Amino acid sequence: MKKTSQKQPPAIHYTIVPKDLAGHLFNVTVTVAEPDPQGQVFALPAWIPGSYMIREFARNIVRIRAESGGAGTGEPVRLTKLDKHSWQAAPVAGPLTLHYEVYAWDLSVRAAHLDQSHGFFNGTSVFLRVVGQEARPHQVDIQRPGDDVARNWRVATALPEAGAKRYGFGTYAAGDYDELIDHPVEMGDFALGGFTAHGIRHDIVITGRVPNLDMARLEKDLKAICETQIAFFEPKTKKAPMDRYVFLTMAVGDGYGGLEHRASTALICARADLPTTAAPKTAEPNEGYTKFLGLCSHEYFHTWNVKRIKPAVFAPYDLQNENYTPLLWLFEGFTSYYDDLMLVRSGIISEATYFKLLGKTIGSVLRGSGRTKQSIADSSFDAWSKYYRQDENAPNAIISYYTKGSLVGLAFDLTIRAKTGGEKSLDDVMLALWDRYGRDFYKGGARGVTEQEVEALFDEASGVRLKSIFDRYIRGTEDIPLAKLYAPFSVKVTDERKNARPSLDAGIGRDAGGAKLTQVHEGGAAHQAGLSAGDVLIAVDGLRVNGNLSNLDQLFARYRVGDTVTVHAFRRDELMTFDVTLQGDRVPNVTLAVTPMARKGATVKRPSAS
Ligand SMILES: [Zn+2]
Repeated sequence: MKKTSQKQPPAIHYTIVPKDLAGHLFNVTVTVAEPDPQGQVFALPAWIPGSYMIREFARNIVRIRAESGGAGTGEPVRLTKLDKHSWQAAPVAGPLTLHYEVYAWDLSVRAAHLDQSHGFFNGTSVFLRVVGQEARPHQVDIQRPGDDVARNWRVATALPEAGAKRYGFGTYAAGDYDELIDHPVEMGDFALGGFTAHGIRHDIVITGRVPNLDMARLEKDLKAICETQIAFFEPKTKKAPMDRYVFLTMAVGDGYGGLEHRASTALICARADLPTTAAPKTAEPNEGYTKFLGLCSHEYFHTWNVKRIKPAVFAPYDLQNENYTPLLWLFEGFTSYYDDLMLVRSGIISEATYFKLLGKTIGSVLRGSGRTKQSIADSSFDAWSKYYRQDENAPNAIISYYTKGSLVGLAFDLTIRAKTGGEKSLDDVMLALWDRYGRDFYKGGARGVTEQEVEALFDEASGVRLKSIFDRYIRGTEDIPLAKLYAPFSVKVTDERKNARPSLDAGIGRDAGGAKLTQVHEGGAAHQAGLSAGDVLIAVDGLRVNGNLSNLDQLFARYRVGDTVTVHAFRRDELMTFDVTLQGDRVPNVTLAVTPMARKGATVKRPSAS
């Protein structure tokens, strides 16, 4: 064996320690062995990949200083602020160390959070990027807080260990900066479960108080979902794209969200959605638990679709600016299409339950008039300023690339199956994307897919000309004719708005003084009468509206559709009067059902049929 003389460049070295639990402060240092002789620039990302909004994480850096030499031994070095995310150190010859504090009090999957109960951080919130040295190896020493309350704390992360023991404090390593910030870290006294899926260890980490958590059920159900997805992308080898995987879950009273990473996911969920050993065992999960499993399935599917198959503009990410892509309908929409489908295919839910979930999604897409104005290609592109920054006018102005994107996935799937007599499906398109762009992404083959390549690949992989779907439902704003597309599969889609109740056709929330309009739907009764979002309703035909929403339902229940009522409402602090002609509520009520087949055996296999 011959020893190579090739020298690894010295690693960028970080330390992070929870310094003040009550004050929510992490102390962080970064030491650069070979700083830029012109003056090393450091920058904190402006956004976190997966959540398409500029968040300016650097605003949580409370104080920062630099010194030459190793930590604690050197001379002060002048730091100049270049912009809201960046600093430049004065030129120094040898090692350079930055010391800074990060305020961590954002309980979400996107940032960092620290108190007496736990610590959580994404690298994008705490690790300054050493500009120009991102490709070097990065190391981080994660230290235990000195507080007595933290004596039982453990660490959960998919960051590779480099001295640290599994679940222990100590040193972890990443091949480059991109990897360093793609492994969120949880520390605390969490519940820990796990399972093996096709040979790969999966950890389930639950932070937060959850009495009688049924971890065994979680392990069983998640294992089924993960194995189904691994086998989906690699039907022959059943080889997962990562060495291990971690579900980092924060359970709270009320919350929902997830963020995908290459070998883990950060989740936040309602405690009530997690299974309990105190409830009788049911074959199918209840509604809340189904929602949680759907979230897990969604983030796990991203391990392939968006963490490895990526839009060209994400390879690599520009972490300081918006990264515009018209393709989020593919990366978020198709992931939403497959998340529930994987619950059916893994046997967790029945097709009847799947159809209920699908009916809800179809209804939510049909609900707002924004769908007639914005395409999902445009919604993808403008995610940064529109989808992620929704205001009261959102239903009238925008469409979700998640929900309509998932229906476009269904439209492709049904079209391909119908036109090929079941020979091909959307699965073949996903496998072609995986084969061409995904499998080797972190093996030196880092290349994203462009809009033009996507369209060509869809036709090629399916053998079907699919341009009209791109033109009408992706670049255009047409409603997808799902009843027609489902017909060859003996599935009947109906939208029956029976017994439409008299309504304002507005979103309504509680308010101390009455009922507050949160959204006013375009063309609805409230809009036509001149009411606005933010108005507080205090009386209907002289009868008081209290903060209890059922009281408003009771008041309207005494009228018919078409009746006109007098509504008193405050806009700011000015009392106004409106004559409102009540309309039937326009909430879609979409149901799907398998019909008895006209000719037995003549039907092409449905995507959700087992
Ligand atoms: Zn997603």
